[in-house]
Amino acid sequence: MTTYRPMPEYQTGPMEVGDNLYAYLQWNGGWGISNAGFLVDDDGLLVIDALMAPSMTRDFVDTMRGVSQAPFRHLVNTHMHADHTNGNQFIKGAEIVAHQHCRDEMEAAEVLAAQQAATREAGDRGPKPFWIQQAWWDELAEVKSTLPQTTFQDSLTLRYGSTEAQLSHHGPAHTLGDSMVYFPDSKVLFSGDLAFFYAMPLCRGHMPNWVRICDIIRDMEIETIIPGHGPMGGKRELQDMQEFMQFMVDQTRDCFANGLSEEDAAKAIDIGDWAKWPEAERKEMNIANLYATYRAESNEASR
Ligand SMILES: [Zn+2]
Repeated sequence: MTTYRPMPEYQTGPMEVGDNLYAYLQWNGGWGISNAGFLVDDDGLLVIDALMAPSMTRDFVDTMRGVSQAPFRHLVNTHMHADHTNGNQFIKGAEIVAHQHCRDEMEAAEVLAAQQAATREAGDRGPKPFWIQQAWWDELAEVKSTLPQTTFQDSLTLRYGSTEAQLSHHGPAHTLGDSMVYFPDSKVLFSGDLAFFYAMPLCRGHMPNWVRICDIIRDMEIETIIPGHGPMGGKRELQDMQEFMQFMVDQTRDCFANGLSEEDAAKAIDIGDWAKWPEAERKEMNIANLYATYRAESNEASR
């Protein structure tokens, strides 16, 4: 049934994936360890995502500076998560571009953090989230929330010479404000966290719509996909992830319709070999997210 494949080894660092276009990968793609990318042009650099801990972003900036001294022109945030946006302040001079909902979600998180801090001692950052390693937590004290200045709704094209970077949004999926960045000349897609390769995807938005977006991507002319986490791949790896999500959507919908609790659904749903994926603890989080989706839909229907 399942399409489990073990993760191939890959290196942290840059990889040329198209004309003047680079992926920047981080092994092993686990919690907080995301991928980024950049396009080099004489007039400036387009950067895709900014990573999480300052040390990660500094290494990424050093890598880009090894290729080009041109100024940073744009930084695209593919979505609001800290492991893609914490580094924003270190991509100096770049105009930060994101989907409107990405900016809204970042702003809401900022307000929430400020409210929580106000109820605690000054200087107390509160409890460390379980998925953040201690060394990063210490570094993260220097991070200031840096919001996108420029937002879009459906699509936006950035032009670097004759090269187009096509940003698009297709509704809620991994989060509410996901963007992907497509380079038609090179047939390369930077998917952000719309793709997790060789690891369990995590849904904070709308998994049924995310499955639909996989179909949209599979219909595009694409040879290489740089996922938000994990090694580079293509449509085969995307299909592996889509099959898992379709399975979760179907199984969880049945459990919800039969009145099972979330806990019982987690016990009832056997994910087989997919349990060998890294971050398989996300199974329960995905079930909770799907239950919230189905609950909202049944409330909507009964109104
Ligand atoms: Zn994410």
